[in-house]
Amino acid sequence: MRSVKSKNTGPERALARALTRLGVKFVRHAQLPGSPDFALPQARLAVFVHGCFWHCCARHFSAPKSRAAAWARHFAKNRARDLRVRRLLRLRLWRTMVVWEHEAACTAAARVRRRAESWR
Ligand SMILES: [Zn+2]
Repeated sequence: MRSVKSKNTGPERALARALTRLGVKFVRHAQLPGSPDFALPQARLAVFVHGCFWHCCARHFSAPKSRAAAWARHFAKNRARDLRVRRLLRLRLWRTMVVWEHEAACTAAARVRRRAESWR
């Protein structure tokens, strides 16, 4: 269900601003498996911003009460796709990391920068 992944959501825009403030160079929605929200080509790091609901965040997710089985299938499909995308990126020698929509943008950006610098 590609349609659930909306582009340029509020958390993504906030992270983009915070990364720019830290001087981190990134590409939005690069031509890579899973179309990562942010790609840092020099560090070969792909960053996905995950919504707490769609990606079942451990802190904020609670399963919808109605149509429970359909939702469960849907979330399982999301998870399977996340794993597949991560595997494909790894095969291309890209690292991946997830930023949650509930994270403060400045904290998340600092985490991304640390991760980027931990390699090159
Ligand atoms: Zn959350």
